[in-house]
Amino acid sequence: MKAVCWHGKRDVRVENVPDPKIINPRDAIIKITLTAICGSDLHLYNGFIPTMEAGDILGHEFMGEVVEVGHENGLKPGERVVVPFAIACGNCFYCKSGLTSACDNSNPNAELLERKDGYSGAGLFGYSHLYGGYAGGQAEYVRVPYGDVGPFKVPDSLTDEEVLFLSDILPTGYMAAENCNLKDGDVVAVWGCGPVGQFAIRSAWLLGAGRVIAIDRFPERLALARKANAETIDYEEVDDVVEQIKEMTGGVGPDSCIDAVGLEAHGYSISALYDRTKQMAMLQMDRPTALRQAIQACRKAGTVSIPGVYGAFIDKMPMGVAFGKGLTFKMGQTHVHGYMQPLLAQIEQGKIDTASIITHRVPLAEAPQAYDVFCNKEDECIKVVMRP
Ligand code: NAD
Ligand code: ZN
Repeated sequence: MKAVCWHGKRDVRVENVPDPKIINPRDAIIKITLTAICGSDLHLYNGFIPTMEAGDILGHEFMGEVVEVGHENGLKPGERVVVPFAIACGNCFYCKSGLTSACDNSNPNAELLERKDGYSGAGLFGYSHLYGGYAGGQAEYVRVPYGDVGPFKVPDSLTDEEVLFLSDILPTGYMAAENCNLKDGDVVAVWGCGPVGQFAIRSAWLLGAGRVIAIDRFPERLALARKANAETIDYEEVDDVVEQIKEMTGGVGPDSCIDAVGLEAHGYSISALYDRTKQMAMLQMDRPTALRQAIQACRKAGTVSIPGVYGAFIDKMPMGVAFGKGLTFKMGQTHVHGYMQPLLAQIEQGKIDTASIITHRVPLAEAPQAYDVFCNKEDECIKVVMRP
């Protein structure tokens, strides 16, 4: 079959690889009908996530048709499913508590992550050997372990484009907003108007926000945020984002701040320059410009919610500010499984328009160009979907 394989920094190739096979009785093989490139894939593409190996198959946002199942799997060939990006066993303490991205059993390389972080979360599709070395879904077929737990059946009345994002970015934006514990009328600021930021903005409204302020620098992304009724700040147009946000909120700051940027933040400040230099010297992995600003801008006793991915130690964090203001922090990989049914209902009721963030539709064979365009935010690219 054809698959998108990682070969090093900014080097992905579409290659012929062996078809996946059933290995365990709970496995399912899915024939992919639609898959997407995520901002998280860019962290792999840009070489920031360790333990990738040449030839690893990428992709954790995918859906398709069940073609084969193990004998302990309740799915049937022909069923149409969306698959969550985190793999969950369904039986451990975390899975039973709905915290599926913290699954204790699905990462066969848990000891690697334990050595790095002291613990391991769930295995992830197409996301390095630290997270299990599972083949991803930017391919014609994929093996889904614990296929009786993850794959979520979707109705034929909805198109692939309408439901695909249940696999990751829609639950991620939603959980980011839910983590803010919004009260009616709250002011929410969202750093990053990429796909995750866009769904965080839309979810904040659904959860009762009274005002949403969105920050980015790409006009088409800011325009899409305004279409969702956010007020926007182009951070290249203001002297100081934090001061600008304070000014817009009567000097108080937003009730909640969402960092939908993560470890590859862009910026011009002295601290951003410092991060870039340290990152280039391999002294620091993450560039937390957006996170620092979110902490500084948030009102006293507010919440900072972090869907953006961070990988290691970060420097020059204003922890004194966070402590002094009594901030609450919520973050992490999304517990996708439990959000799929309720968010499907929101899509069916027309409360979230998912397909409208797609700007690029390409065949899988064009993945290398698509990665490049999405990474460089060229051609007004916001979200790429690929059809095998
Ligand atoms: P993306 O790259 O399309 O979007 C990131 C946006 O942040 C871009 O529009 C960029 O211009 C903007 N940005 C960069 N620096 C900024 C700054 N200083 N201030 C404001 N905006 C800035 O990516 P995406 O798909 O939207 O993903 C965003 C983040 O969410 C990534 O880190 C990704 O890994 C993470 N993510 C996390 C989960 C999870 O489970 N927690 C799931 C999916 C994605
Ligand atoms: Zn993703």
